[in-house]
Amino acid sequence: MDQKSLFSEGKNECVDASDFADKNVMRILVPYPMDKAYDYIVPHNLHITQGNYVCVPLGNREIIGVVWGEASGDVNPDKLKSIISKYDIDPMPREHRDFIDWVAGYTLAPKGLVLKMALSARGGLNPPKPARGFLYNKDIEIPAKLSPQRRKVLDIMSDGKTRIASEIADLASVSAAVIRGMADKGLLDEVGVFNPAPCIYPEYENGAVDLSEDQQMVADELCDDVSSGKFSVSLLDGVTGAGKTEVYFEAVARALKEGKQAVILLPEIALSNAFLERFKARFACAPALWHSHLTPAQRKSAWRGVVSGDTRVVVGARSALFLPYKNLGLIIVDEEHDPAYKQEDGVIYNARDMAVVRGSIGKIPVVLVSATPSLETMINAWDGRYKHLVLQSRYGGAILPDISVVDLRIDKPDRQCFLSKTMIDEVQKTLDRGEQSLLFLNRRGYAPLTLCRTCGHRMECPRCTAWLVEHKRSGRLHCHHCGYNLPVPKDCPECGDKDSFAACGPGVERIFEEAKVNFPDARIMILASDMAATNEDMKAMLGEIIAGEVDIIVGTQIIAKGHHFPNLTFVGVVDADLGLKGGDLRAAERSYQVLHQVAGRAGREQKKGKVLLQSWMPDHRIMKAMAGCDRDEFLGVEAAEREAANMPPYSRLAGIIISGRDEAIVKSVGVSLGRTAPQGKQIQTLGPAPAPMARLRGNYRYRLLVRADKSINIQKTLAHWVGAVKVPSTVRVYIDIDPQSFL
Ligand code: ADP
Ligand code: ZN
Repeated sequence: MDQKSLFSEGKNECVDASDFADKNVMRILVPYPMDKAYDYIVPHNLHITQGNYVCVPLGNREIIGVVWGEASGDVNPDKLKSIISKYDIDPMPREHRDFIDWVAGYTLAPKGLVLKMALSARGGLNPPKPARGFLYNKDIEIPAKLSPQRRKVLDIMSDGKTRIASEIADLASVSAAVIRGMADKGLLDEVGVFNPAPCIYPEYENGAVDLSEDQQMVADELCDDVSSGKFSVSLLDGVTGAGKTEVYFEAVARALKEGKQAVILLPEIALSNAFLERFKARFACAPALWHSHLTPAQRKSAWRGVVSGDTRVVVGARSALFLPYKNLGLIIVDEEHDPAYKQEDGVIYNARDMAVVRGSIGKIPVVLVSATPSLETMINAWDGRYKHLVLQSRYGGAILPDISVVDLRIDKPDRQCFLSKTMIDEVQKTLDRGEQSLLFLNRRGYAPLTLCRTCGHRMECPRCTAWLVEHKRSGRLHCHHCGYNLPVPKDCPECGDKDSFAACGPGVERIFEEAKVNFPDARIMILASDMAATNEDMKAMLGEIIAGEVDIIVGTQIIAKGHHFPNLTFVGVVDADLGLKGGDLRAAERSYQVLHQVAGRAGREQKKGKVLLQSWMPDHRIMKAMAGCDRDEFLGVEAAEREAANMPPYSRLAGIIISGRDEAIVKSVGVSLGRTAPQGKQIQTLGPAPAPMARLRGNYRYRLLVRADKSINIQKTLAHWVGAVKVPSTVRVYIDIDPQSFL
């Protein structure tokens, strides 16, 4: 045995040579892009069970790993290294390890990378260090002269609770320096405190509402599922405002009552303050949050809480599904149709689908929630694989808006304008009634294309296959894919002509200008992601709308989700055809979902709403479905088309993306893959061809697309085929199972 290597780093305190008399060996998976778990020796003095988090040597580093199973026996035990130490924390449950294995097998990602998603809170394994807390000092005499700031702090602290500096600073609106100064003077006592895990004591009986008869029936069904402790999938289907959230809160309450954990997944953009306020009102406690903007300390404490089981409810973006819950009893996927559930880099997966898998492995009910279910989910419900729970109408009798289509071929906007007369009239009427309008266009900036009037030169991103988008606010042209930007040039770089650039097409900034011309006295706001850089900005802007300080909102999709504006009664969709361009498999479906969601902003309370869709294709089945509100007929036609074309969900697709700096090498890898690509009756491959985004952030991209009958094990075929082709280290090959994006 190579004992030297075991001891050479001098950190391996818990190991002694005699510990290896009859070598107990276990397999450890580490969170790195490796597919295999490796054997390590378990020192005698460590009691190790499967799922334990351990520290192991790898190369010359010490890293975290998880005990994945019994020894593989691949390597002679004499050559093995030893586990260094074990973390004092609950082991990862068997179901979660099985889930990680399953996801890796399905997405063809290395197991270690999937594990990494479950460990994504650096330092969470170590017990938290105590933070500095402050306490009211009863024994000190309060000086007669005291600054108002200090007075305020003392007022707050006189309740005797221990608080950390940031909490006091927040409550008293003072700086941390004021608090430290008071501690120095003895006005506050300093104590060590542990930041407790979030959401430990939600109260399930707290804010329950009286459900309507319909709502109660659905809620009972979901609660029974939770209590049954069995796997099930339900589609909770109902128009916006039907009370779906209220109903699934009941299921969460049931899970809490039975001592189980629950996770609510939301598209990141919908993780709004409004939702959190509602959660707090219902459960008298904030949920644990999980998304990409948490501070390291927040991540750590949420992760530990989830692992120990102390944290009861997590509300998070797709990655929240991969947290190693100790005792998960309910999974909710709200807005299940949302494309944001698809992760497009690293491990490429769809969290909606993986939620169903997690439920199946862990015997957990899964609730998919939407007003516009995806076609996949709808077909599963029609075929009886999922339960279909429907809430028919808006709660409290709020009526659905009137939707009609403006035929742009007849009702043409003026030259260089984008709002039709009908649209302008409707905004005017809404203004006259003292109500709010939303002009929706899902395009940031001023104009999507900037063109030289003299020579036709278009301003393109030098690193991406994309036009540069003019933003008036910054006075620059921006690439929406890589962030490249430059000032709007005065002269054309191609022909040298002066001031020859013209904006083509509208973005929200341009619609804002047009609205200002038409409604000079109205208060108009643009709401797009680049206008509300921080969560605070966004909160302030939404606050202004709700307070009635805005008459017309010009907004992108950021406004379409989840918000509730009581006085908003008119929605005008500037370009209802926008989402239909691009030839994507799901273009029509997505477009319908977005239009429906935006339309759902109109008339959420007693006032009836109105929606106008401007379109050049008023006869398109989407416009007809929107105007007739016949969602299921529309989905039925979509389903029939997909079936006829033998496309998902009636078959399987996989994308292979090859990307690298050197176009010739990328292309040659594509050609090699193409040469051995699977072709036959049940499986076909298209390509290689340059991807629609042929360049992205300076990388050249080629694509292949595989279509297979459902009877084919597509993962096995792909692994075999792609694995056999030699890929130079300068090129990356991504496999995207069930692709959503065809760029
Ligand atoms: P959805 O999730 O289907 O869009 P919500 O659950 O957000 O619907 O409900 C819409 C609005 O109606 C919310 O303000 C909600 O609080 C209210 N609401 C729904 N059901 C009830 C109920 N039974 N009692 C009181 N308010 C309700
Ligand atoms: Zn770019």
